[in-house]
Amino acid sequence: MNSDIRLSSRVVAALQEVVGVEPVQLHTPIFNGNENKYLQECIESTFVSSVGQFVDRFESDLASFTGSKFVVAVVNGTSALHVALELAGVGINDEVLVPALTFIATANAISYCGAIPHFVDSESTSLGIDADHLREYLGTHTEQLSGQCVNRSTQRVIRAIVPMHTFGHPSDIEALLAVASDFNLVLVEDAAESLGSFYHGQHTGTFGLLGTLSFNGNKTITTGGGGAILTNDEMLARRAKHLTTTAKVPHAWEFVHDEIGYNYRMPNINASLGCAQLERLPEMLLAKRNLFDRYANAFTSIPEVNLLKEPSGTRSNYWLQTLILDSSQAHLRDDILELTNSVGIMTRPAWTLMADLKPYANCPSMDLTTARDMVRRIINIPSSAHLGNTHE
Ligand SMILES: *Cc1c(COP(=O)(O)O)cnc(C)c1O
Repeated sequence: MNSDIRLSSRVVAALQEVVGVEPVQLHTPIFNGNENKYLQECIESTFVSSVGQFVDRFESDLASFTGSKFVVAVVNGTSALHVALELAGVGINDEVLVPALTFIATANAISYCGAIPHFVDSESTSLGIDADHLREYLGTHTEQLSGQCVNRSTQRVIRAIVPMHTFGHPSDIEALLAVASDFNLVLVEDAAESLGSFYHGQHTGTFGLLGTLSFNGNKTITTGGGGAILTNDEMLARRAKHLTTTAKVPHAWEFVHDEIGYNYRMPNINASLGCAQLERLPEMLLAKRNLFDRYANAFTSIPEVNLLKEPSGTRSNYWLQTLILDSSQAHLRDDILELTNSVGIMTRPAWTLMADLKPYANCPSMDLTTARDMVRRIINIPSSAHLGNTHE
């Protein structure tokens, strides 16, 4: 093996085996279905905004695909999380357990409720919350007072836990549900990255009291911008719809709003795009699995680099393909990022841990050893579905 050649050069060669030599983005959407047709229909109907049939259709198509009884489409994944947390009872001065290894939207949504993120560690197989480590931590750092989980050092109530399915790989959600139940925490799932990912055959985002999806431009399917709230609870679904549509009381002409709601409803024109995208989702998921196999094959010659694989018992959507460098090679991460980007192959490191960002530096946090270790070793590589089609 050419182990005398720089690791970054060998990574570029392996990537080029799969993606070719033309510049390639991290993740681009594909519009090869009914997108134009539905957009045209939507425009011709003049109902491009907050009323229209595509929103209802998108919600019911998502309900069938995910198996969630109720779906409420909203303007983006962040607003979906904000409202889901509010409906879960998260309020001012509550703490909410959230992985330090996540996109900032998860922590921001907690802040929008006036609550405080409390950062927890990840485990290395799924990159999701480490349930065992968390259970041990809660056992020593919290006490139960009248059925509430209280943080001993801040005296604040820890109200909820928000697992996130990182890069599409399902977290160990059953273990996390058990922790939530034993410590009296409400579980809300951030499934923004995991549309099309299943844990023991059940769709991610449908395990907690509420779950959320994102249809941002870089996600598995896109509505331009968009998100959705999932729940099996009819009352919560009604509350979600009400709160995200300015809390207007239905009436033929009067403007009566019975609480402070939000203008978070997904516009019909975005939903029209979503309906077309969702029709192609099964095909995209197959292409993304195929892309994983192609990368896995190309990287067999580089034993110092592993591809993050779906955890056993799960089916991942492989939203973002992920290289994990051996610990001994972590110091070469930036060299690899530099060389790949300089030859036109877009690659990215993992997010900066939330606990290391200025707005969240003073929040409570458990020891983040594994999250910190993994961040040094993660590189996301081009992941668009079109790269998985074998005719490339
Ligand atoms: C994309 C994403 C969101 C939501 O993002 P929006 O851009 O608001 O749709 C939330 N959490 C995570 C982990 C995400 O990746």
